[in-house]
Amino acid sequence: MERIYLDNAATTPLDKDVITEMVDVMTNYFGNPSSIHAQGREVRTLIEKARKNVATLLNAVPSEIFFTSGGTEADNMAIRSGIAAYGLKHAITSKIEHHAVEQTLGILLKQGIIDKLSYVNVDSKGNVDYNHLEELLQNNERSFVSLMHANNELGTLTNIELVGDLCEQYNAIFHCDTVQTMGHYTHDVKKLKAHFIVCSAHKLHGPKGVGFIYVNHKIKINPMMYGGAQERNMRGGTENVYGIVGLSKALSTAYAEMNLHQEHIQGLKNYLMERLMNEVSGVSFNGETEADKSLYTVLNVSFPEMDMADMLLFNLDINGISASGGSACSSGSNIGSHVLTGILADPGRPSIRFSFSKYNTKEELDFVVEKVREIVAQNITV
Ligand code: PLP
Repeated sequence: MERIYLDNAATTPLDKDVITEMVDVMTNYFGNPSSIHAQGREVRTLIEKARKNVATLLNAVPSEIFFTSGGTEADNMAIRSGIAAYGLKHAITSKIEHHAVEQTLGILLKQGIIDKLSYVNVDSKGNVDYNHLEELLQNNERSFVSLMHANNELGTLTNIELVGDLCEQYNAIFHCDTVQTMGHYTHDVKKLKAHFIVCSAHKLHGPKGVGFIYVNHKIKINPMMYGGAQERNMRGGTENVYGIVGLSKALSTAYAEMNLHQEHIQGLKNYLMERLMNEVSGVSFNGETEADKSLYTVLNVSFPEMDMADMLLFNLDINGISASGGSACSSGSNIGSHVLTGILADPGRPSIRFSFSKYNTKEELDFVVEKVREIVAQNITV
């Protein structure tokens, strides 16, 4: 049997149409998009076509889209540029953001660029406390807010429309890490009151090492990278043309197939949840699981304490199943998941994140359940 890939929140396999489009560009175009001759101009056209396509899908204008090397760079750019543009001294985030956000804000605090970093409360399922967010916005000077759309470990969704409204009310700048939801839901930047949203192509069957940031046209930012006039002076360096073309194709495909895949993947998630609940004793789920509160591609499962908790993922791996794992840090002795620690998950219980894509099948999940049952039965603490 072929390996079963259930780690799609980490990365996804490339879509065949994306490969075809990228290979065509790799084969037939090599000019530097900054060159003014015909071979440069034709490559420039490819980039600008991709930018227009991305902008159209997001209801943005092309000048609001900047291509980056992926989600981490886009998050860095949003945070550093947004804070610098307005000289903000206070930022609000949560303890369960991706490291790209968490560590960037931490460094800005350490460097004295901001002088206060507030953490909005989250509940045991990773839901933001919106009343607390309002309190923080109310009781502080103008703030920079960075909150993710879907948590990459738990799948819990944030009501980013509400966050956008609150930010507008208190004149805050809002950055939303949309890496895990781009291509899984539609984002209409004219409705969403976020100043920055971001994308990483490899999370939606596109290539690695490429992404973009949407910067609302009202925000005037300074360059992130110096040394060239690319990306309208905001990010020096010759563009990743093949990646950009692949990203654009991946996003178009995701939008075109969204309803179909959403239904299929949500069905897989429900199926796995139900079978694990009914057939493996002591199983529970981390984060929200209801369809309207949870990203349909992610299911984080908490297993009962077992003798060889560390071996759970390893055992799945040797049985041909790829997934991700983690546990809350126990007394600082091991570096566990800061997200599970942030929601105060039981440090004794191992957790596995299963994350799905359009390529997964019910039959694969049958095999996964069978193997999980075997492994848990062998390792359970009596
Ligand atoms: N933000 C979130 C929520 C993510 O899940 C990831 C990737 O795991 C990133 C940012 C970073 O993206 P990239 O791998 O493109 O740097």
